[in-house]
Amino acid sequence: MIRHSQEHILNRLPSSASALACTAHALNIIEKKSLNHEEMKALNREVIDSFQQHVNPGFLEYRKSVTAGGDYGAVEWQARSLNTLVDTQGTEYLDCLGGFGIFNVGHRNPTVVSAVQHQLEKQPLHSQELLDPLRAMLAKTLATLTPGKLKYSFFSNSGTESVEAAIKLAKAYQSPRGKFTFIAASGAFHGKSLGALSATAKSAFRKPFMPLLPGFRHVPFGNIDALRTMLSECHKTGDDVAAVILEPIQGEGGVILPPTGYLPAVRKLCDEFGALLIFDEVQTGMGRTGKMFACEHENVQPDILCLAKALGGGVMPIGATVATEEVFSVLFANPFLHTTTFGGNPLACAAALATIHVLLEQNLPAQAAQKGQLLVDGFQALAREFPEMVVEARGQGLLIAIEFSDNETGYNFASEMFRQQVLVAGTLNNSKTIRVEPPLTITPEQCEHVLSCARKALQGLRVAQREMLEAEE
Ligand SMILES: *Cc1c(COP(=O)(O)O)cnc(C)c1O
Repeated sequence: MIRHSQEHILNRLPSSASALACTAHALNIIEKKSLNHEEMKALNREVIDSFQQHVNPGFLEYRKSVTAGGDYGAVEWQARSLNTLVDTQGTEYLDCLGGFGIFNVGHRNPTVVSAVQHQLEKQPLHSQELLDPLRAMLAKTLATLTPGKLKYSFFSNSGTESVEAAIKLAKAYQSPRGKFTFIAASGAFHGKSLGALSATAKSAFRKPFMPLLPGFRHVPFGNIDALRTMLSECHKTGDDVAAVILEPIQGEGGVILPPTGYLPAVRKLCDEFGALLIFDEVQTGMGRTGKMFACEHENVQPDILCLAKALGGGVMPIGATVATEEVFSVLFANPFLHTTTFGGNPLACAAALATIHVLLEQNLPAQAAQKGQLLVDGFQALAREFPEMVVEARGQGLLIAIEFSDNETGYNFASEMFRQQVLVAGTLNNSKTIRVEPPLTITPEQCEHVLSCARKALQGLRVAQREMLEAEE
C-alpha cells in the first residue's frame, strides 16, 4: 500500500511539465475535425487506458461499447445529424438512448446551437451582481409553459440539484407547520446527492451511504391505498407529511406507468393532508411522453415541478425547480437561502429558451405521441412474436421500455442492437428492461429501421439459443 502511494507521488513529480503536455495534446485533438486511422487507434487506446487508470476501470466492464465496439472499443467523436452520432472509427449510430433523455430536440439542434453561440460571443457567465436578462426571460417562459399556478423558478445545473432544491423548498415551507416527513415511491429515481438519494429508492445506490436524511418513507408506486395509509399513519404518529415526491411515469425504474386516475387521486390526498406535491419531471418533461409535461395527461398540477435533462436541449446542462408563489415565497425574504454559482447562467438559459422554442414551434410533444405509438405497437408485435424472450413492451410517447425474461437476454439484445448501430439503454447489471428514448426528432423511417433491427436482433438470439440447446442435447 505504502509502496503504491510512493510510486504514485513519483509518477506525479514532474507534474507541471507533463500536465502541460496533456493539455497541449488534448487541445490539439479538440481542434481536429477528423482523425486518420493511426490517430484514431492511438486515441482509442489512450482513452481506454485513461478510463482504466484515472476515470474508473469499472466503466470498462459495464459498457457494451467496449466489448461490442470491435478491436478498439467505441469512442464517440461527434454528432452527425439530429438523430445520429459517429465514433472515432466513422461508425454512425442511430441514437435511441438519447443520453438517457437529454436529446429531445436532437443532437446539436441548429436553433439551440445558434442561441448558445450568440450568447457565448456576448457573455457566457453572469457577474452575479447586475440582473441577468436571460434568467428573467426563462423564468417567465416556464411560468407560462408549466401547468397551474407554477410561477417562480430556481435554476441549477442538474436534475439532482433541481430535486435537492425542491426538497429544501418543501422543508422551508412545511417546517413552521410541523411537517417533516417525505413520501416517495418504490422504484423511484431522483438523483444521488444525499438529499435526492433519500428519495431515490434503489437499495444498491443507497445502502453504502446510510443513514440518509431522516423522515423519508417509500410506498409502492401506483397504489393509492398504500399512499393513503402512509399519510394517515404518519398523521397519527405526529410525523406529518411535508411532501409527496413522484415521477409521473417512473423512468430509471423501467418506464412504469401508474394506473389511470392515480395521479389525480394523489393530488386529492395531498390536499386532504396538507402535503405538498412534487413532480420530478426531469426525464418525463419537455415533450418526452407526448405532452410538454407528463402530468398534463391527466391535468394534475403539482406545487413544485423539477426539470432538467432535455431542458438544455442537449447542448447545456440546466435544472429548474418551478414552484407556486405560495411555496416559493419562503425564499423571498432571503433569496440567498438556497443558491448556486452557475445555476441559470446565460449559456444554459439561452439553450433552454431555444429548446422550448423548438419544442413548441415544431410541435414535438405531439410528434412524440405519434412516433411513440408507432414504436410501442411495433415492439408489442415483437413481444408476441418472441414470447420466450420478451415479456412486455410499454411506454408513453417516446419513453419506451422493452422488458426481457432476464438480464442476460436484455444485455444480448442491447449488444445486438449496438452491432446494428442502434444505441439503446441497458448495462450489464441492469438489462432486464431496455429503454428506448430517441430524440423526438426521430423520423418515422428511422422508427421503422429500429423495429427491423430489433426483429433481426431477436431472430439472431433465438437461433443462438436453439443452437446452444442442441449442443447440450
Ligand atoms: C436523471 C434523473 C434525475 C437526476 O438528474 P441528473 O441530471 O443526473 O442529476 C432525477 N430525477 C429523474 C426522474 C431522472 O430521470
